[in-house]
Amino acid sequence: MTKSELLYQQATHVMPGGVNSPVRAFNGVGGTPLFFDKANGAYIYDADGKSYIDYVGSWGPMILGHNHSDVTNAVCQAIHKGLSYGAPTEIEVKLANLITNIMPSIEMIRMVNSGTEATMSAIRIARGFTGRDKIIKFEGCYHGHADYLLVKAGSGALTFGHPTSPGVPSDFVKHTLVCDYNNLQSVKQCFAQYPDEIAAIIVEPVAGNMNCVPAKHDFLHGLRKVCDQYGALLIIDEVMTGFRVALGGAQAYYDIVPDLTCLGKIIGGGMPVGAFGGRADIMQQLSPTGPIYQAGTLSGNPIAMTAGFTTLNLLNDVGIYQQLDDLTSQLCNGLLEVAKKHNIPFVTNHVGAMFGLFFTSVEEVSSYADVMKSNVELFKKFYHHMLGDGVYFAPSAFEAGFMSLAHSDREINHTIDSANRFFKSL
Ligand code: PMP
Repeated sequence: MTKSELLYQQATHVMPGGVNSPVRAFNGVGGTPLFFDKANGAYIYDADGKSYIDYVGSWGPMILGHNHSDVTNAVCQAIHKGLSYGAPTEIEVKLANLITNIMPSIEMIRMVNSGTEATMSAIRIARGFTGRDKIIKFEGCYHGHADYLLVKAGSGALTFGHPTSPGVPSDFVKHTLVCDYNNLQSVKQCFAQYPDEIAAIIVEPVAGNMNCVPAKHDFLHGLRKVCDQYGALLIIDEVMTGFRVALGGAQAYYDIVPDLTCLGKIIGGGMPVGAFGGRADIMQQLSPTGPIYQAGTLSGNPIAMTAGFTTLNLLNDVGIYQQLDDLTSQLCNGLLEVAKKHNIPFVTNHVGAMFGLFFTSVEEVSSYADVMKSNVELFKKFYHHMLGDGVYFAPSAFEAGFMSLAHSDREINHTIDSANRFFKSL
């Protein structure tokens, strides 16, 4: 029995599924989840000492590669000054200044501890500011696990959603409308039906929770227009895309100005951080300047702020994003080429340092329905082949992949060679 297997066995007795977040349990690919011990650069090492090229990067934050010495040194220094004060610090101001400079649509920001808190709070402030209750989300987009966001679409775009999880009362999701991603018409229909009731649209600008599906340019800009027309707010959830698809996030990549932005992952450099921010007139409505309540014991924690500030400073150069885009293109093009050589129906999507791999004969994957047509059984086989060869992708056909600055030709070529052997074996 491997150490991972032993740990997993022990873990299942004391933690549901042996994990603290479901997708880690390998339910999407079968088999025993790996338990990890350490990571460095582009590599992650399991409890048995085997190394893997890591395309998960803690689900996004580790864009510099693991264990970057500047970040760990800064964190070590901060630790010696005390772990938490629950009171304002200089590093919070520095990080807020840096983020608002890089993302000008964020005039004011508030730090929280996770992406879930960021989206939850952004929606509260959107509702408080507009005085409206309904929100629109898109099927296949994930915005954390707040009750009213755990909603799947009904049979048609215009139906109210149903709770995706037991424990979420139907009443709690009755204000959530679910539309089709990349389908502006479905959104227009909602607004036509409820012209004065919709507080906000929340959208992943490059969906990364149904594998990787970029928004169409016209779709996102259409959302902006329809929000303006009806007096609703546009919330862009950049928890995953912020500082990943471009320095200024997807809003820079698509040249679109949201009213509110949600952030997480990279802005914490691997520590638990989220944030939401946007127009000053909206953010000023937040307690203590305004009546809309939001708070957090550990919000703006100095260690987390230090990790985030050091990480963002190292990323503050558009040249880095060209490098990340080149690396991701190299990986996707290489995989496409070997799939084609062996006649395997295969499609990739990528924006900046975020990518998706699909075993499908659909020509372009641009909707939730397209994603659902991909061959999950083949993905599972691919997954375990790659894992055996020391390549760690997200253990699900419905999660995006992440490139880091620590990846190089060596790791990418190893990945493509391994995929080539798999495709050849089919
Ligand atoms: N929004 C998006 C777009 C996400 O990808 C995620 C997490 N993957 C969240 C929100 C929730 O973030 P967290 O897991 O930190 O609560």
